[in-house]
Order: sequence, then structure tokens, then C-alpha cells
Amino acid sequence: MKPLILIVGYLVVVTLPLAISWWVGGPPRQFQQELASGMGILAFSMVLIEFILSGRFKAISNGVGLDVTMRLHQIMARTALVFALLHPFLYQGTPSGGQRPWDPTRALTITTDFSALSSGIAAYLLLPSLVVLAIGRTQLGFKYETWRLLHGVGALLIAMLLWHHTVNAGRYGSQPVMSWVWLAMTGLAIGSLLSVYLLVPLLQKARPWRVTSVARLTPRQWEVTVKPDGHRGLDYKAGQFVWLNVGNSPFSLKENPFSICSAPAAGPELSFMIKELGDFTRTIGQIRTGTVAYLDGAYGNLSLDGRTEPGVALIAGGVGLAPLLGILRQMRLTGDSRQVKVIYGNRIIDQIAYREELDAENVFYVLQEPPETWHGETGFIDSALIDRVFTEIEFSEWVFVMCGPAIMMDTVEDHLIERGTPSQRILSERFSYD
Ligand SMILES: Cc1cc2nc3c(=O)[nH]c(=O)nc-3n(C[C@H](O)[C@H](O)[C@H](O)COP(=O)(O)OP(=O)(O)OC[C@H]3O[C@@H](n4cnc5c(N)ncnc54)[C@H](O)[C@@H]3O)c2cc1C
Repeated sequence: MKPLILIVGYLVVVTLPLAISWWVGGPPRQFQQELASGMGILAFSMVLIEFILSGRFKAISNGVGLDVTMRLHQIMARTALVFALLHPFLYQGTPSGGQRPWDPTRALTITTDFSALSSGIAAYLLLPSLVVLAIGRTQLGFKYETWRLLHGVGALLIAMLLWHHTVNAGRYGSQPVMSWVWLAMTGLAIGSLLSVYLLVPLLQKARPWRVTSVARLTPRQWEVTVKPDGHRGLDYKAGQFVWLNVGNSPFSLKENPFSICSAPAAGPELSFMIKELGDFTRTIGQIRTGTVAYLDGAYGNLSLDGRTEPGVALIAGGVGLAPLLGILRQMRLTGDSRQVKVIYGNRIIDQIAYREELDAENVFYVLQEPPETWHGETGFIDSALIDRVFTEIEFSEWVFVMCGPAIMMDTVEDHLIERGTPSQRILSERFSYD
């Protein structure tokens, strides 16, 4: 899926309940009342689509990249919050203690029935908490898995509360057509959550993997290899990633995204290059061969499949090398004879992984803190370095694939665009959506 299709599709679905409500109609009301209802309707449909954006739908995220769908998820959550918080204050009308026979469409009255309002009030309090917790997760010191559980349960609760509030208190939501629309949309949203936490683990249980080796690459980076246990393995494109769960039940929340650094052409075994960072990655060295693993994937759009550019630039910062190594290995195994230049940045020399393999390539190592005997590039992967490595023709004709720290990718991307590289020839992936 292309970004434009994603945005158009999003706009269509998000405004669908609003359009149907307008079509269902009712006696005219003041503009401010309509605005209040419209904001409430939009906030609810945005909240429901959040489930789809953060659910692992390959049709959505593999086209534009998970980092893009997650960014949209974050932005729309904040927009929905603003709409939801504003909407009750815009209403002006006669409060009603219940349904009035002379006002069946609630054009003249606003309900004060506690049962209909209580769910709205509860969602009103929960939604900001969910957003604040997501924004401040790291600062608040939450373990990723704890936060993920709270986020999922909180979102589920909010969806159910909003559904109850909308169909009971809403002027439009209480109309039969809209009740069905909201029921269907809420069902799809909750279904997508259940699919990630129940259906996918069930499928994973039938397709276990086993760890075949764990090797230290550098002082804080490891290579973990797994092979399918009793099945064909995974269909994937070089450069994609999976959610990897090692040694836990498939229903556990302890799974982390890692790029596959091996190549599909190498066979069913998969390798991962993993940097120590937090509670799971710091225990990689303790994983024993034979340990069971479960994989969910493959995801991601960092792929050269179907691309015909005459040359390939691979630009990696630290462990961002992982997906690019998968791409490079696939090119070598399939006899892809296009020119390749690799830029690989690290802080110190000891962090350079797969040196022997990379030395056989046209590689530019970059070190921030080089030893005295270093003859390679120094400093950061910045505009000046990019200009030293690539020619004008390469800027305009090659495909540039990059993965690394956000600052590196922003700098390089801006510079490539300045040098005339079309944005569709710049592929990137972020390891963090914070
Ligand atoms: C698409 C993608 C590909 C990645 N590929 C690699 C790779 O090839 N090699 C590598 O070393 N690292 C990779 N990462 C980063 C890796 O996922 C994290 O470093 C790892 O999950 C940290 O887990 P932890 O339990 O050790 O640390 P924690 O302290 O639990 O987490 C540290 C940070 O990692 C991120 N993270 C943790 N768990 C998850 C999760 N389940 N989903 C999303 N983000 C999570 C969060 O930002 C969190 O704040 C990738 C990340 C993404 C999004």
C-alpha cells in the first residue's frame, strides 16, 4: 500500500460514520450542537481505527512501513483525544432526564441519564490517561511489556465504553442504522486486538522454531539463529523483520521486533543481529541452543524486490546493519551484479560486526572515536561524508536504503533530497517509534 492510498483509505473510513449520520439526518439543530456531535463521532471512529493501525496487518504496514503506520497511530490518537475532550463542552441545549415523546431524535434535549453518560465520563477520563502513558512511557519508568498490556486493556475498555455511550447517549448513534455501524466497527477493532493476542499465537504454536546458535559478534551484539521445527519456515523478503519470542509461551507478551539479517536464498534458517539494550536483549547470551522460539512475520517494506535501479547504497548506523546485511546477502546469493556501496557507522572499532564479510564489499567504515591507527572515515554519517562517497549520477539513479539512529536517517534523507534523489528511491526503517 502506498502512503497516499493509506491516507485516502483512512479518511474514507474515519468519516464514514459521520457521513452515514448526516444521511440518517434528523430535525435541524444549531451549528454548535452538530459540531459537538460531529466531533464525538469522529473521535470514536478515530479511536476504533487506532486498533487497525496498530494491529499487525501486512496489507497496511508492509506497503508503507510500520514506522509510518505507528506515527499515524500516534498522531491520530492525539487528535481523537482533542476532539473527545472538546465535544461535551460544545453542546448547548435543554438537559433532559430521559427520552421525551415530543423529541424522539433528541434535537432539542441533551440526555442527563446517568447510565448513558457514565460510560462517556469513564472513557473521558481513561482516554487522556492512555495517551499520556503512551507518550511518557519511558519517563514514567514502565517496562515495555507492562505498558503494552495496560495499553491493550485500556484501549479495549475505552472502545467498549465509547460504544455504550455513543449508542445510548448519541443523537445519531441511537438510530438503528448507526447502532449497527458502530457495532460492526467496534467488533472489527476488538477483533483485530484479539487476532494479535489470540489468533496469531495459536497459529504460532503450530509452527515452532528452535534456536540453533547464539554467537557473540562484538562486546554488546549477538547473532541468534533459529530453524523451523517441523515446518517449511517463513516466506520473507530480504530486509524484513519479525516479532521474535524466545523461550516463552506464544501467548506471552515477551516478543520483540528484530530484522532478519540472513537472506531468503540461504534457506529456511533465520539469523538476527541483536544489540543489548534492555531486559530481553541483555540476556541473549544465556539462551541455550534447542530453546523453542515463535515468530510473527514477516513485516516491513525495506526491500529491493522488484527494484531495477542500477546501483544500491546501503547506509547503516550500528545495529541498523541487520536488515541491510540481509539485502546484501540476498544480492550476493542470487548473483545480483548491480554496484553496491556500503556505509557503516559505529562509535568505536570494537562495534564493527561482520567485518570479514563486509571487507569483501565496497565498504566505508565510519568511526566517531577512531583509534590512532585508523585510516577510514571518521565522525558521523553526515552530508559531507555522503558527498564524498556518492557521485551526482549515483544520487539521481541509485536506490538508497538506510537504517540506524533517527538523527542519522533524517540528516541523510534531507541531504539526498537536496542532491536530487527522488523520495521513492530512499528506503528507510526506524527501530524505534518513540
Ligand atoms: C522494525 C524493527 C526492527 C528492529 N530490528 C532490530 C534488529 O535487527 N536488531 C536489534 O538489535 N534491534 C532491533 N530493533 C530494536 C529492538 O526491537 C529493541 O531493541 C528490543 O525490542 C529491546 O528489547 P528489550 O526487552 O531488550 O528492551 P526494553 O527495555 O524492553 O525495550 C527497549 C525499547 O525497545 C523497544 N521495544 C521493546 N519491545 C518492543 C516491542 N515488543 N515492540 C516494539 N518495540 C519494542 C521500545 O522502544 C523500548 O522502549 C528493531 C525494532 C523495530 C521496531
